[in-house]
Amino acid sequence: MTETTLIKRAALVIAWDETQGRHVYQRDADVVFAGDTITFIGRGFGGEADKVIDGGDLMVMPGLIDAHTHSSHTYQTKSALEEVDSLKLYATVLFEYNPLLRLDSKYTPDCCRCSLGELLRSGCTTVVDMSAPYPEWLDVLAESGIRAYVAPGYASASFYTTTGHDLGYSWDEEAGRRKFARALEVVDAAETHASGRLKGMLYPAQVDTCSEELIRDTVDAARERGMPMQTHCAQSVVEFRELMRRTGKTPVEWLHDLGFLGPRTLLGHCIFIDDNPRLFWPVHRDRGILAESDATVAHCPVVQSRRGRLLQSFSSYRKSGINIALGTDTFPMNMVEEMRGAAIMGKIADGHSQWMSARAAFEAATVGGADALGRPDLGRVKVGAKADLVLVDLAHPLMQPARDPLRNLIFAAGERPIRDVFVDGRQVVAKGEVLTIDRRAAAERFSAGHSEMMTRVAERDWANRSADDAFPLSLEIRD
Ligand SMILES: [Zn+2]
Repeated sequence: MTETTLIKRAALVIAWDETQGRHVYQRDADVVFAGDTITFIGRGFGGEADKVIDGGDLMVMPGLIDAHTHSSHTYQTKSALEEVDSLKLYATVLFEYNPLLRLDSKYTPDCCRCSLGELLRSGCTTVVDMSAPYPEWLDVLAESGIRAYVAPGYASASFYTTTGHDLGYSWDEEAGRRKFARALEVVDAAETHASGRLKGMLYPAQVDTCSEELIRDTVDAARERGMPMQTHCAQSVVEFRELMRRTGKTPVEWLHDLGFLGPRTLLGHCIFIDDNPRLFWPVHRDRGILAESDATVAHCPVVQSRRGRLLQSFSSYRKSGINIALGTDTFPMNMVEEMRGAAIMGKIADGHSQWMSARAAFEAATVGGADALGRPDLGRVKVGAKADLVLVDLAHPLMQPARDPLRNLIFAAGERPIRDVFVDGRQVVAKGEVLTIDRRAAAERFSAGHSEMMTRVAERDWANRSADDAFPLSLEIRD
């Protein structure tokens, strides 16, 4: 029997207006879902319901979509990587510092649980998880109750530095092929997983670490399987210059010429396209290519702003016709924070408050991601859509005065008033508590692994620095 749930007379619903193609505020409406699907939105539902939720103080909104994160492999950089940069490698932590932080694989499932717990608590119901595959991965995702796009990473090369100012690529095409084959097995297993909430995505890791052949074969495999694709692209000045040196093309041009760009392609970051003012590049074609190909930029403003970088700018990309989705990438794994970051950094990039908006950030966190995934049934509260719903407490002091609750949520309250979260009609957060993950226990085990990892920093570092030298604490310790 399919269970029917009625959210009775919700004070406010962020509903999807199909004819206008936009979210609207709808007052005093019933929202009904049966099993995993929304079946009714409007006044005076006359049918039977197995469960009734009083909506008097609630705003019902669609679950948020994290279109770019690495749930099993970036949370471990917390409390270490926030405020270091390779100043001799044009300010990117990727090559010098990121490789120093490698968690022992026995702690990886708990790293993932910590990420997913925080995501669910922030109203995220779909995650694109780009991680190196490990045996427990699909089960940890499924047990959390989240909807996930499983994106196992592979590449033909890895980067390294031996001095802190050189950048090397260690190529191993055979190893890349093996990882690609393994990734195909994992995405196929995801699609047939018993939970029914896992899907596959193909993820050649970075534009500068994958060979032409690997990208072409990815495009073929994605087409064959009808799967979306994602890679990191235009994420640093050195990467842009490396692609130009290697191919005579910008990263965007190169991917376009290999057939990688299309309506179900996401490009992580895409900040250093050829018109980014920090590049001083004389020819500007990337923006037009992105718009014409219908590719999506997976924008991760919180981590980028922490590193001193701006998308220039959110509103101008949108005006150029480029779709934007939002992702958390590293930490915090908090989609409301990400919307706030997108809105605020967008305003800073524009130099004023008006073009970049809470609404634009919310669209990116909902339909922007859903469209990139080819999912008209996600990111929207409408009849026929999946019952991926977030209930926000409008009576929460931080949500008052509740004249414009979406702005309150993004600019003032954060995730704090999020009360309940449903994925596929199943409740995963109740009264602000994640039901599917023991977050404290997972955090305790993960932290033990984090401490162990810190003792091994020197052996991975070109300069043999200890964790405290490579990642100094923000304050001195006095015993
Ligand atoms: Zn990333």
